[in-house]
Amino acid sequence: KLYNMVQDLKGNIRVFCRIRPAFCAGTRNVIDSIGEDGSLVISDPLKPKKDGRKVFQFNRIFGPSATQDDVFNDTQPLIRSVMDGYNVCIFAYGQTGSGKTYTMSGPSGGSTKDLGINYQALNDLFEIANQRRGIISYEIQHSFGDLNVHKLEIRSCTNENGLSLPDATLLTVNSTSDVLNLMKYGEVNRVVCSTAINNRSSRSHSILTVHVHGKDPSGNMLRSCLHLVDLAGSERVDKSEVTGDRLKEAQHINKSLSCLGDVITALAQKNSHIPYRNSKLTLLLQDSLGGHAKTLMFAHVSPEEDSFGETISTLKFAQRVS
Ligand code: ADP
Ligand code: MG
Repeated sequence: KLYNMVQDLKGNIRVFCRIRPAFCAGTRNVIDSIGEDGSLVISDPLKPKKDGRKVFQFNRIFGPSATQDDVFNDTQPLIRSVMDGYNVCIFAYGQTGSGKTYTMSGPSGGSTKDLGINYQALNDLFEIANQRRGIISYEIQHSFGDLNVHKLEIRSCTNENGLSLPDATLLTVNSTSDVLNLMKYGEVNRVVCSTAINNRSSRSHSILTVHVHGKDPSGNMLRSCLHLVDLAGSERVDKSEVTGDRLKEAQHINKSLSCLGDVITALAQKNSHIPYRNSKLTLLLQDSLGGHAKTLMFAHVSPEEDSFGETISTLKFAQRVS
């Protein structure tokens, strides 16, 4: 309750930054310092230290040693508010390899340790449903789908949640193990392809949606949803040296990400016109972006010097929407 009040006073958009551990000890690390107050200082590897420093401000920063639990602790209040009727969207943004899937799903290779927000969130919602048994009865449904920006056709059939993902099946889940199984299934079905920057690059936005229906003894209904979105890699097109369909796809991804940025920026500035209709992603999430909905964006950063250009553009994107 208190959290919701604080949240409402501060507005409904939060931006967190997460920096993954460096992989190769040999390369220079561009992270200069991480402040308790959410400030991040990075330095341009090509400039002398004092000229190349840039400062960015976030609501919260998770450094390389932050654990999945650290991240979840700060995400949990937002997730819990879904059970009180708020719509919530959580996005993972960043270039391929920066740790988006790690934050949302967990480590690559299918380990069941260090599971990410998707799993922890579902677990938490079930726990709350159990605690409130007798006070509110909840039904939790859950769908997992890939929004391949290139191919998606939005059906204009509207259920109470507005638009729906094509081919995403809505399943009622009763336990966290149901969810784990479903997530494995989603992972297997993910569309991946090779590009010059990385041999495994996600070309689609992966969306896990949780629908919550609650009913109290006097028959009052509560309806809300939680969207957990592992966005396609934000790297710029020219770098990946792709051609033909791949190039078109990359351009579509960049366009949908910049449209998402436009929508969140317009919401943060409380503009009267919010350009939801400019991309399929924002159209799909329209009901859960703005209004009383709450949004959290994780800006993911790779610390290595060869990622500096992409790191700067990720941080600028994050700064724009906060
Ligand atoms: P993305 O989804 O942005 O392309 P991944 O989540 O797949 O990036 O991360 C790239 C690699 O780095 C994976 O092997 C992942 O397990 C590892 N990784 C990412 N973030 C962390 C972290 N915070 N701690 C440990 N390993 C990480
Ligand atoms: Mg990924």
